[in-house]
Amino acid sequence: MDANLSRGEAPAGGSAYAPAFLDALVGAGLLVPTGVQGLYGRSAVFEAVGDGLNGAITALGADQLAEVLRFPPAMGQRDFETSEYLQSFPQLAGTIHSFCGDERGHRRLLARLQDGEDWTDQQQPSGVVLTPAACYPIYPVMARRGPLPEAGKVVDVLSYCFRHEPSLEPTRMQLFRQREYVCLGSPERIVAFRQLWMERGQQLARALQLPLEVDVANDPFFGRGGKIVADSQREQKLKFELLIPVNDGAPPTACMSFNYHMDHFGALWDIRQADGGVAHTGCVGFGIERLVLALLRHHGLDPARWPSGVRATLGSA
Ligand code: ATP
Ligand code: ZN
Repeated sequence: MDANLSRGEAPAGGSAYAPAFLDALVGAGLLVPTGVQGLYGRSAVFEAVGDGLNGAITALGADQLAEVLRFPPAMGQRDFETSEYLQSFPQLAGTIHSFCGDERGHRRLLARLQDGEDWTDQQQPSGVVLTPAACYPIYPVMARRGPLPEAGKVVDVLSYCFRHEPSLEPTRMQLFRQREYVCLGSPERIVAFRQLWMERGQQLARALQLPLEVDVANDPFFGRGGKIVADSQREQKLKFELLIPVNDGAPPTACMSFNYHMDHFGALWDIRQADGGVAHTGCVGFGIERLVLALLRHHGLDPARWPSGVRATLGSA
């Protein structure tokens, strides 16, 4: 991989390599390129569709009596370490570094810049890490509150998430939004929650008139050991995805995921059920950008001309 690509910048020659769908999105002003792969601005039209989706997801989850929690797209380094993200997905993580030096250090930094040399080794870790999945910040919060209510709990989260996976596919961004409902409680509660949301996810995609399939999936666990974990995740059917064709000549894209973590997060954070047992957790994740892109792909680049049923589902009829 050349140095530009590993930094997530466009390859020399730029858009010549870009797939046609990305070109069309950029041409219509829906996504605004920044010169970094997977890092885009969004137009008002794109954002309005995303807002409509979020509204539809809120309506779908009204009976969940979820606690709404919003966090900025970052979490403390200690909590991030406890999550064991680095054990499973070191390749995706993003850390925030800042200049913490004195004036001499500043002069060194400026000299590096001036000479076109790497200046990033003049930065120090800030103790803050980018959020990798919207549900991560809530586990330490729930653990600190003490045992869960008798019936368990559902939390509604929405966050920009960072994953270092630069790509020319518009569906694979480095910063994107996940809307999630997260359920904490007994194993039976989580299994029923996930079943309900697998049905509701399909119901939403059908209301949006999108072609879909649901399939068992795995997360991209790192390395040779990771393959074993990924195989076991598939065998135990812990993750399902709702897939929609979006990209040119590529397999369908996961636009929603339905996850059962068993007692993984409960044990890491020491989250307890009301009876003192370790809590099980699960989440349903909606990829906001991917769903907007799926709608643009299947109904055209002008949402004003989408079928009336689709517009009604998005609250824009
Ligand atoms: P867990 O919480 O179990 O780690 P998750 O549900 O939070 O998993 P994923 O299943 O990996 O995380 O992602 C959820 C959704 O986020 C995906 O279905 C997809 O729609 C969206 N998504 C994931 N990666 C990207 C990306 N690089 N660009 C855009 N959207 C993405
Ligand atoms: Zn999650």
